[in-house]
Amino acid sequence: MGQHYDVIIVGGRPAGSTLAARLGQQGVRTLLIERAEFPSLPAASSPIIYSSALKLLDEIGADENAYAHNTPRIRRIYADNSQFQLNIPLPDANGRDYAYAIDRARFDAALWNNASRFPSVDTRLEFTVTDLLWAGERVTGIIGQSHGGTEERITADIVVGADGRFSMVARKVNAAERDVHTENPTSLLYAYWKNVKPYPESSEPSAVAYEGGVGFGMLVMDSADGTTAVTMEGQADLLEPPAGKSKEFYLEKLAANPKITARLEGAEMVTNVRGMRKIGNMYRQAGGAGWALVGDAYHQHDPLDGQGIFNALFTAKSLAWAIRYYKRGQMSWEEALEWYDETTRSKTYGMYRQTLANVKTNLYNNNQSLPGWAVTGLRWLMEDPTMADLLGKLMTRQIPPEVVQMATPAIAVGAMVRAPLREFRKRWLAF
Ligand SMILES: Cc1cc2nc3c(=O)[nH]c(=O)nc-3n(C[C@H](O)[C@H](O)[C@H](O)COP(=O)(O)OP(=O)(O)OC[C@H]3O[C@@H](n4cnc5c(N)ncnc54)[C@H](O)[C@@H]3O)c2cc1C
Repeated sequence: MGQHYDVIIVGGRPAGSTLAARLGQQGVRTLLIERAEFPSLPAASSPIIYSSALKLLDEIGADENAYAHNTPRIRRIYADNSQFQLNIPLPDANGRDYAYAIDRARFDAALWNNASRFPSVDTRLEFTVTDLLWAGERVTGIIGQSHGGTEERITADIVVGADGRFSMVARKVNAAERDVHTENPTSLLYAYWKNVKPYPESSEPSAVAYEGGVGFGMLVMDSADGTTAVTMEGQADLLEPPAGKSKEFYLEKLAANPKITARLEGAEMVTNVRGMRKIGNMYRQAGGAGWALVGDAYHQHDPLDGQGIFNALFTAKSLAWAIRYYKRGQMSWEEALEWYDETTRSKTYGMYRQTLANVKTNLYNNNQSLPGWAVTGLRWLMEDPTMADLLGKLMTRQIPPEVVQMATPAIAVGAMVRAPLREFRKRWLAF
């Protein structure tokens, strides 16, 4: 027999490399495989991550100076639209009151390097897994090859698919799909720019959500090395560039918002337009005999709220614990998988529902205009400092969406008193 590992992980970005690091901390003999080389970009991803994700990275000793090198700290998230102006200060969570719009190529490379430093973790870059090995109904390893090399077979007690949304492992094991939502599909397009003018309302690096047109919105985020990520997300049928015309299409859509046009005056687009069409929403079966799924391969959801990397890191943490319980004989593999599935769903499911609801309200209401009193009420609610505080805590995963939902009626009542006073004071002081 050739090499044998406790765990083989297929896919070496946020989920795979952080799972490998956690198994490395336990001394579990692990092989981490990635078909790409690093630094390189993932299939498509915009870059926002919050302190909730950074805390999970602290736990595995990932170096913030490496993964967020030369990346500005964003302390406020703004929404600048015709109905209301949101200004959400990110609350202090885990000693950090900031988010990053990371350089994904740098971030993923840093996480890979972090995993590689554990003695029990072997790594193979530019190695593509093409199939799985089976003993009856049980997965026992992988078949794959280095670029330009010959086919190799490597066995393991457990094979983990950390291979993203279009997971090959999930396909080969015929993993069941659950909670699939295709009713409001979205697409996302983005590019990086240099010399974008700062957001006029802020003297610090910022992330600002703007209106697009009917059915789509935009987000402008200050990112690494003086770049700014300019993304747009909307109804899939509306963000469908004609073949070979992505750049023209993207620029034309950006021009819909004069505030963005003003910020882009004199700026230069420094990357191609990238993106993803009809982004999926689902959970998959967590695992089976000899296999498990983690990260996007297990749970993928719309990127509107920027929670995908957190989910990838959190599912990796839970799976590392499940493997620990199994290896120590505290649980059977079936029990460990059930525990993993329950733990991750209890942390991710509420946010999943909330994001799907946000997609429907923000991108699929087709500009059904609200009566004037409702617009004013919405503005008062959204601009209320108590609401901003709750939204900040939600983004950083300090509270679940249910808490925001429960608190909203009471905040709305308070906002009806506070907002007129605030507006009166603003006018009076200005006068
Ligand atoms: C358009 C878009 C925008 C997003 N924006 C954000 C955001 O702003 N913030 C946020 O937190 N999240 C965002 N996300 C989500 C985030 O990108 C994902 O949740 C995250 O990348 C998942 O990490 P992962 O490790 O599970 O999978 P991936 O990052 O997809 O990594 C999977 C890896 O597996 C490798 N692989 C696949 N098959 C094989 C094989 N057969 N052999 C070897 N290797 C293989 C691939 O090369 C890849 O490197 C966005 C997603 C999309 C689609």
